[in-house]
Amino acid sequence: TDAVRPLIAGNWKMNGLKTSITEFEAMLRGAPEVTGKADLLVCPPVTLLAGFAAKASSFGQEGKHAVTVGAQDCHPKASGAHTGDISAEMLADAGATAIIVGHSERRADHGESDAVVREKALAAWRAGLTAIVCIGETQAERDAGKTLDVCGAQLKGSLPDDCTSGNLIVAYEPVWAIGTGLTPTAQDVEQVHKFIREHLNQRFKNEGPSIKILYGGSVKPSNAKELMAVPNVNGALVGGASLKAADFLAIAAGC
Ligand code: PEP
Repeated sequence: TDAVRPLIAGNWKMNGLKTSITEFEAMLRGAPEVTGKADLLVCPPVTLLAGFAAKASSFGQEGKHAVTVGAQDCHPKASGAHTGDISAEMLADAGATAIIVGHSERRADHGESDAVVREKALAAWRAGLTAIVCIGETQAERDAGKTLDVCGAQLKGSLPDDCTSGNLIVAYEPVWAIGTGLTPTAQDVEQVHKFIREHLNQRFKNEGPSIKILYGGSVKPSNAKELMAVPNVNGALVGGASLKAADFLAIAAGC
């Protein structure tokens, strides 16, 4: 009954130099073997975005790209006096198809509130891009039994009205599982993803069932198959393991 096409999205974070194009080329070369199973999205640092997008389209056949590229953040405004910031319109211009917003590292390092995350999701839409909205509880919140309360509040505050399967992807990323090698049990993932699905169905009606919900947090080739088989898991947001083509492609092969 899981008719939603999986997406494996790579978040390169603050990693990658011009020489990393060779790793991206390896992903493009390997993509045709896995795109029967899942779509692939790579979100490099913004310095590499336009170069990756150009490379991806040179690999595309008849306008159909095996791999698309995205961004890791954006400013809520379209332009203006915001030194050092990048707008969604600029990211679209550079070739992005999607923007990650509300990653836990942005929420923690830059104090981004749910309201700011919501503004950034709206900015992505304004530029015609898909917003990948991240939510997830900390270890202390999980220990206190507050996982669903925290995720519910983040969904309520971070998701704009009028979400559709075309403009929104949700990523559930327990903060304690990011970059730690720890992952929740399949049952824990199932419980949270079911809760997210119910929120989406209730709020966005007919669109709810087809909005992708990604799992993120220490996904690697050895655990991807089990995690991707969990009900309401429609793919993964991958950090560390998305830097190596072999690992990234192996994760997609597990869908
Ligand atoms: C992430 O930061 O989105 C992430 C899932 O990181 P990792 O896969 O390295 O845990």
